[in-house]
Amino acid sequence: MFDLTARVAIVTGGNGGIGLGMARGLARAGARVVVAARNSDKADVAVRELSALGPPAVAIRTDVTVEHSVAELVDEVERRFGRLDILVNNAGINIRGSIQELSLAQWNDVLSTNLSSAFLCARAAYPLMKRQRGGKVINVGSMLSIFGASFAPAYGASKGGIVQLTKSLAVAWAPDGIQVNAVLPGWIDTELTQAGRRQIPGLSERVVARTPAGRWGTPNEFEGIAVFLASPASDFITGAAIPVDGGYSTMV
Ligand code: NDP
Repeated sequence: MFDLTARVAIVTGGNGGIGLGMARGLARAGARVVVAARNSDKADVAVRELSALGPPAVAIRTDVTVEHSVAELVDEVERRFGRLDILVNNAGINIRGSIQELSLAQWNDVLSTNLSSAFLCARAAYPLMKRQRGGKVINVGSMLSIFGASFAPAYGASKGGIVQLTKSLAVAWAPDGIQVNAVLPGWIDTELTQAGRRQIPGLSERVVARTPAGRWGTPNEFEGIAVFLASPASDFITGAAIPVDGGYSTMV
């Protein structure tokens, strides 16, 4: 039920953090992982690690904010492997600051990296998945898909949008046998949040106090949800937004 042998998976931002955590799960379940990110040095390290866990992984240098870069990624995957079964839209950034401090360029940067990227990647992947009569798209949202935060208006807008995009694609592509779901991480220890911890005194302790599980999450805790949502085990689940948050979203 959880076997991903012979499946091909693109993981955007799969060279670190949560993306690499998900990629590890997919590789261990037998999928061939394509790491799509900008930093080639990090991607090479990730590819070596993933190739030791499962079939040989590859890196294809991609900027998910650039339409032709996404098109080239999917073309290259089709040329090399002839198929695409799983797309994980994980690449993301945050620019902190109040709405008054945020420039239009910063707003656009966050929206294009976190939200428009998922549109571009899913749109490019669709013809291959439709041809195969099936596929799995996993989008990465956030607690800010649910809650508001004064310090991250663009990020919150992008992550709210991810959930609605997930639902629209799920409805549109259900007849093609393509399931589209979102994962909503709580506070996870990655480079993204390490920057936040440096900038915001007391953040680390506040997260621990606010999270029912009483700790930060780790990237390897995304292996299971990635395998579940990429495998036949989830074939009747589509349009869902599943928190992976140690209970954060259930507590007032
Ligand atoms: P990281 O900063 O560790 O990873 C972000 C990844 O996105 C990097 O691999 C980066 O690779 C990639 N990326 C960024 N911009 C682009 C781009 N233009 N093109 C291609 N790849 C890009 O952060 P996390 O692992 O923490 O975040 C992963 C996802 O999880 C994000 O969507 C984030 O919003 C979400 N999330 C994280 C939470 C957390 O607590 N950590 C909580 C909720 C959601 P490169 O720079 O090489 O391109």
